[in-house]
Amino acid sequence: KVKTGLAQMLKGGVIMDVVTAEQAVIAERAGACAVMALERIPADMRKSGQVCRMSDPKMIKDIMSKVSIPVMAKVRIGHSVEAQILEALEVDYIDESEVLTPADWTHHIKKHDFKVPFVCGAKDLGEALRRINEGAAMIRTKGEAGTGDVSEAVKHIEKINKEISEIKEKLTEELDIENYAYEQRIPAELVKQVIELGKLPVVNFAAGGIATPADAALMMQLGCDGVFVGSGIFKASNPEKLARAIVQATTHYQDPKKLLEVSTDLGDLMAGMTIESIDKSKGTRLSQIGW
Ligand code: PLP
Repeated sequence: KVKTGLAQMLKGGVIMDVVTAEQAVIAERAGACAVMALERIPADMRKSGQVCRMSDPKMIKDIMSKVSIPVMAKVRIGHSVEAQILEALEVDYIDESEVLTPADWTHHIKKHDFKVPFVCGAKDLGEALRRINEGAAMIRTKGEAGTGDVSEAVKHIEKINKEISEIKEKLTEELDIENYAYEQRIPAELVKQVIELGKLPVVNFAAGGIATPADAALMMQLGCDGVFVGSGIFKASNPEKLARAIVQATTHYQDPKKLLEVSTDLGDLMAGMTIESIDKSKGTRLSQIGW
């Protein structure tokens, strides 16, 4: 029932944001398992204050023609027509993303209506399961895109892990399961599936603020199946070397000697902005768009 086959193939990999075909080629050469084709990376969207929409299919198509790895592209939350357009373009995956300006503040896209697999962001277990129930084939933490601050991504994966342990421990009776499912607006069957598996029934990647090889390895050690790296790579002084290092760190996330090697002499990393500084300046946290 859950359309997860294709997304399983990305397991253990790094998905990189790219805004040009040249960047996509660098990402592929560095070992990315897929690229996310975007007009602007989240760090720049964050600054713009403008409405952020699906990218021009022309640039996505250009990227698709230059690389052999899967190409993903983003649509606004709830914007089923942007999704129809990207499905017609034959992108490999669609990210229904809070990084763009939501088109519908109440409903997400009915993803079961599509053949193309979707990835969606989540901050907690209930949100992940609502997206899966709508047909998402893959989940990622929302983190805080465009900051280079990994702490929100850490918070989200820790919350999901903790809530999975809690439901396994506490939902022992059928009625407990039904109550939880009702509260979370998901079918009880899906809750049972998570209790049985001890994890989400789809792959779960880290995203939002991952900027270094150590960040990527941290998210893997916390149990993520792979990572998305957005603003981090092409905001650094040596993107090619950093991209390669993040791929290596994601593969060898349990090997400190390897992590030492790939973390050394990477040049200037993304300067970024801390979550605290966004809150102080009363800026919007992208992960708090919606509820
Ligand atoms: N994220 C965004 C950007 C939203 O607009 C919404 C709701 O409209 C949500 C998340 C939350 O959806 P849900 O309450 O189903 O988790």
